[in-house]
Amino acid sequence: MNDAEQNKPLSVGVTPDGSEAKHTELSNPGIHRLVNEIPLMSRRIANYIVGKPITILAFGEESVPESLRDKITRAGFRLKAVDSISHLLTHEGNNTCALIVNLDVINDKQRARMLQLAEQSINLPVIAISTHSGLNERIDAIRMGATAFVTTPVNDDQVLAEIISLTERYEADPYQVLVIDDQVSVSSYISGVLEQAGFLVTVINDPVNELMPYLQNHIPDLVLLDLYMPGINGQELAGVIRQQESLLSVPIVFLSTEHSQHVQVQAMATGADVFLCKPVQPIDLLYAVEARIRRGRAVRNLVTRDPLTSLWNRREALRRLEDEVLRCQRYGNKLCVGLIDLDRFKRINDTFGHATGDRVIRHFALTMKARLRDGDIVGRLGGEEYLVVLPETTLAVADKVLRRVSDHLENNQPDERFVYTFSGGLVRCLPGMRVDTVLELADSALYQAKEKGRNCVVAVDTR
Ligand code: GH3
Ligand code: MG
Ligand code: MG
Repeated sequence: MNDAEQNKPLSVGVTPDGSEAKHTELSNPGIHRLVNEIPLMSRRIANYIVGKPITILAFGEESVPESLRDKITRAGFRLKAVDSISHLLTHEGNNTCALIVNLDVINDKQRARMLQLAEQSINLPVIAISTHSGLNERIDAIRMGATAFVTTPVNDDQVLAEIISLTERYEADPYQVLVIDDQVSVSSYISGVLEQAGFLVTVINDPVNELMPYLQNHIPDLVLLDLYMPGINGQELAGVIRQQESLLSVPIVFLSTEHSQHVQVQAMATGADVFLCKPVQPIDLLYAVEARIRRGRAVRNLVTRDPLTSLWNRREALRRLEDEVLRCQRYGNKLCVGLIDLDRFKRINDTFGHATGDRVIRHFALTMKARLRDGDIVGRLGGEEYLVVLPETTLAVADKVLRRVSDHLENNQPDERFVYTFSGGLVRCLPGMRVDTVLELADSALYQAKEKGRNCVVAVDTR
């Protein structure tokens, strides 16, 4: 034990041989109740039954415009109209992912019941539709638990994108917290509290040796950091975390026995978000952590997503490509990379207008996302150009995947006035290849596809 460690006052509720503390705290029914009472993240974390259609509920038969209804069902969702709150409650949890409420259609009584229900934590994200976009409507929507507010005329693609984002893995992923504390007793107590509330927790007791390998493969949603540890202090570790671009928006919460405000402020100066003093009540810990994760995820989405399509933006897509290329180099993993460009897109813009062009760009993004696997990466590089990264995939399979996208497009066009297609260039990344090289090879394969007459994929085996 070093000096800092010895000087550390023991926190109440955490005994030096921690397991006992953990048990007494967590087996306390009062705490169990408190933990369960928090409307924890349930709005966002749903477990969908695979193979069963996901249902979107709509409050009132006429609440969803017909074109949107079509879009939703064509995207594979089931749309079910409910006409009363009790009807709504019987469907909640039944593979439902969202509730569409048209604020113009519901009556005052229904509105009051909705507000009341939201307070009792109805577990469905609400998508509110309204002709009015004033503060009152927006506040109503927020009080009903709305995650999206859409004004009429409804932008169908926007609503569909919102629905899809609600069902996506990244939204449904449990919140991941990294706990860094040299004292096993403390870290197991904290992780116990967090795990009880549904967080995924990773504990690092020896940051000097364990932190960097962890950060190479994970981006936690939040880091809970002790201040005094042997060999390194929390402030230095916060500095190390903030050095990495991909971790810039990850909230850092200090959890320490340090009561000196001066020391706390200094520690925070590295870019931490809050300083909690041990001993911390489980309920306070959960609130502090949950609120910051939610905001952190929202910020990360803003920074990493393309606003038009919700795909990874150029920077994030290239960063993720770089990670995969490194993995390929390190472990010899299979990896395919493709560049995709829509054909004669300028014509669509020129003939039907920029808004229609935008709709096509979004349509293609949704089509791609729906046809790729969870671990695949798809980003918009700019204009009508996309990047796809397919880890653990052979060139033949990658080629098949893109052909399937193209087959699907043939029968599922967003506009009956024209047909749009795409061309693609695919390459296999081999260990030792640089990102630049991979992209150049894919680009020249794409060029060949355009030369060949477009609407095709050219796959180049780099062996
Ligand atoms: P090719 O088959 O050779 O790819 O022909 P193309 O017409 O698709 O290629 P070109 O690069 O000449 O035209 C791309 C057009 O995409 C030109 C540009 O105005 C348009 N564009 C770029 N970004 C956006 C966008 O965000 N929205 C819309 N609607 N159009 C965009
Ligand atoms: Mg093009
Ligand atoms: Mg282009």
